Amino acid sequence: MRTKLPSNPTSVPEPLTPEESDERNRLAEKLDRQIRELTQTSKQSFQSVIRAFANCLGAPDEQDKNRLIWHGIVGYANADLGSARGIEEGIIAFDIFTSLCMNRLPNSFLEWKNPREDLSPFEDMESAPTRVAYTRKARTLQKQFRTMLFWLADPNGCSDLLRRQALRFLMEHGQKDALRFDASPNHEFSETDDGAGYPFFYWKGPVYYRTILTPVASFILERIDKYQEDELSLTKAIPLIVCKRAKCGKFAVSKKIRKDFCSDSCRTLHYQKSDPARHAKNMREHRARKWNFF
Ligand SMILES: [Zn+2]
Repeated sequence: MRTKLPSNPTSVPEPLTPEESDERNRLAEKLDRQIRELTQTSKQSFQSVIRAFANCLGAPDEQDKNRLIWHGIVGYANADLGSARGIEEGIIAFDIFTSLCMNRLPNSFLEWKNPREDLSPFEDMESAPTRVAYTRKARTLQKQFRTMLFWLADPNGCSDLLRRQALRFLMEHGQKDALRFDASPNHEFSETDDGAGYPFFYWKGPVYYRTILTPVASFILERIDKYQEDELSLTKAIPLIVCKRAKCGKFAVSKKIRKDFCSDSCRTLHYQKSDPARHAKNMREHRARKWNFF
């Protein structure tokens, strides 16, 4: 599933149409409401937040929390942060993966941490804990973030220098001393978990992150470790690909089957260009198979 590094790694995809952008914004507002409600209501809301995140990221069928984080990673990395619409799209994706990564511990979801509302846990936001500063920082970090993803998607397709830069970036933001945990006692203990309380002695959760990328960088490092320790297959641990069409270079979350392109249209365009004869033959076979169904 690994692919060659595209010749133009800085290329960005077409921005969303105004209609698509409006739809994403409506979803983002709904998402804010749902996250706020989550802090007040019960566990069921957790699933509704996951559904809202999935819709916002354009992956409505995705229910796996880890894969959803990858969808967010890809959404941020692919966004054209030079345009207003790209900013909206990219920052929503950034918020979503940060939020999911900050709330990964099962015990901590009762107090859902929301980077859209509270930037105090991030050390790099201390001097200016505003959304504007946060957005600016997310923009500044995107290039190095993309470099790191190219390495993850195709470790052998990168130069030595790029590999070193990518790993250094990941370590800088995500290695163990970049986050600190805290614990507080549970004041409503109930062994039976009958709704009267919770079967935990204490809650534990991260309280400090070195940078706004620390939540996601520590997630990525953990996935790498899980793969290296044979806990997960590569596709499960890091379901990330770079579209094989040279002029595209978009990142995508791979499906369970082998996939080299971000979309069917890119697959078609790539093969039309690279080998018209082979493409025509494949299309004939494809159509023949299709018609055989009827
Ligand atoms: Zn593509």
